[in-house]
Order: sequence, then C-alpha cells, then structure tokens
Amino acid sequence: MPLQSPTLRSAVPEVFFSLGSFSAASSTSIEAHSEYSKCLASNSLDIHIVFFLFPLHSILAFQSPLGLKQGRLMFSYSIFLLFSGLALSLAERFWPRTPQPLVRRGFFLDLLYLFFNAEVVGALVAIWITNNLPASVILPFRETLQLGWLAQQSVAIQTLVLLLVKDFIQWNVHHLMHLVPALWQFHKTHHSTVDMDWLSNWRFHWIEIVVYQVVLYVPATLLGFSSEAAFGCAVISTAFGHFAHANLRIHIGFFKYIFNSPELHAWHHVHPDYGPQHRNFAITFSFWDWLFHTAYLPAEPPKRLGIREVEISL
Ligand SMILES: [Zn+2]
Ligand SMILES: [Zn+2]
Repeated sequence: MPLQSPTLRSAVPEVFFSLGSFSAASSTSIEAHSEYSKCLASNSLDIHIVFFLFPLHSILAFQSPLGLKQGRLMFSYSIFLLFSGLALSLAERFWPRTPQPLVRRGFFLDLLYLFFNAEVVGALVAIWITNNLPASVILPFRETLQLGWLAQQSVAIQTLVLLLVKDFIQWNVHHLMHLVPALWQFHKTHHSTVDMDWLSNWRFHWIEIVVYQVVLYVPATLLGFSSEAAFGCAVISTAFGHFAHANLRIHIGFFKYIFNSPELHAWHHVHPDYGPQHRNFAITFSFWDWLFHTAYLPAEPPKRLGIREVEISL
C-alpha cells in the first residue's frame, strides 16, 4: 500500500511540517513555532488526503468520465479560482480588516490545502458514482421517493434548491462540529488559522471534506440533481467561502441577513479570550443564524482570531 511505504512516510511529514512551520517561524518566537507545529502534528492525517486526492483529482479532471464537459469545466473552475483569489488578494490590500502581509502565517500550508481540499472534487466524485451506477439501481430509488420532477427543472432552479438544502445541512453539521467534543477535534483544524484571508477557506481536516463533500453530494446526484447543478452548487459555495474568509473590512448592509460575509465570519473565528464562541455557523446563507439566534455582529471586528491550542504571540 503506497501510503505505508517507509520512503513516503518519512518524506511526507517533512514536507508537511516545513510548509506549516516556515510561515509560523517567519514572525513568531521559537516556543510559538513549536506550539504551532504541535497543533499541526495532531492533524498529520491530513497529508494522507494529499496523496489520495491528487491522482483522483487529475483523473477526474482529464479523463472526462462524467458525461459532462469535464476538461472545460475544470479549466473554468481553475480560472475562477485564480481570478477570485487575485481579486480578493488585491481588495485585501486596499480594505483590510486587519493589516497583515500577503504571505501571512500559515500561507503556504493553506496553499497546500487549496490544491487538495476542493469542494468541487466532492461534487465530481458524486457525479462519477451516480453516472456509473446502473439505471436499474437509480430509477426505482428516485421513483420511490417521487423525485422524478427534479430532473425536469432548469439547471438554475436545481442549483438554487440544492444550494439551499445543502447549506442547511452544512449549517447543522457545522453546529455539531462545535458542540460535540469528538467532532471539534476535526473542526479545530479550520479554526487554527490566526491570520485569516480568503485562502483560509481551504484549511479543513480531510474528514470534514469527506463529510461536507462526498457524503452530501452523492445523495444529491442520486436523487436526481443534474451534474451541472452539483458542479454549480460547489462553485457557488466555494465563492462564498472565499468571500466570507477574506480579510476585508466591509459592510454589506441588509444583505448580511441573507448571505455570509467577512464581518460575520470573522466573529465565528474569534479567539476564546476575545469574544463569544459558537456563533455565526453560516456557510453560504446567513439567515439560518438570524433565524436560530446564533448570529453575532458587534460594530467592531474581533481583535484576535484562533484557538487556545495555537498560542502564537502576536
Ligand atoms: Zn467553525
Ligand atoms: Zn471559517
């Protein structure tokens, strides 16, 4: 089994920790650096997904087994990633919530996550599974649940319905990740970020990626949502994730009651010594938080982000 090979095992942590510790060491003390590495070490399983997903990602991107214009979609997706990243990086220079360098602590680690934690991969895996199951399995399933009407709707309506349903499930899963200590062990990877920007949207433990992506998208495509709707939903969720994590001091007015935003999500990441915990669980839509009284939005942004497990002196 490739992951167990001694050569790979010895090489992997070196790459992983050097990426994580380089960014921490650039502006913190040796003690803080070692604390940071310890926290990352607790998530060393993350590196496995790198070697698992890399070939999978490539196969899905270039072999076009999904019955849609895979190569073109993946190309558009890469262009979207590039331009949204550039646009947000530029905006963060002009209107930062917290002044911080472009190559901030954790930058290279998050770049690694960017390549291997793509939500769109979850959607592609789900599309591939559904397309490869025989109709004799899928049709009775859809007929029993009376969901044949779904396939007759336009891609835009399917995408919106899927986005709403998926977002509400994710809001609940996210809430549980905070309230159940065993689940928090996985989710704290995401909260380990101390200097947040759009790239922080990618720092997740691989278990969360499996739960959020494959486990959510497989039933969606099995139920009859089209490949395009699943793919579109993944791209829209990713775009909102980028926006919500951006280091931007902006107010979106009334839209804060509808969409997640940097001002809301920064308070989700507030350090426990600097603000209340377990607020603003929104992924794409913020109305779940306003509806269930978990929204929290003071006038000023939080003074410090992160968790106690990552005690880097500021
Ligand atoms: Zn969270
Ligand atoms: Zn976040």
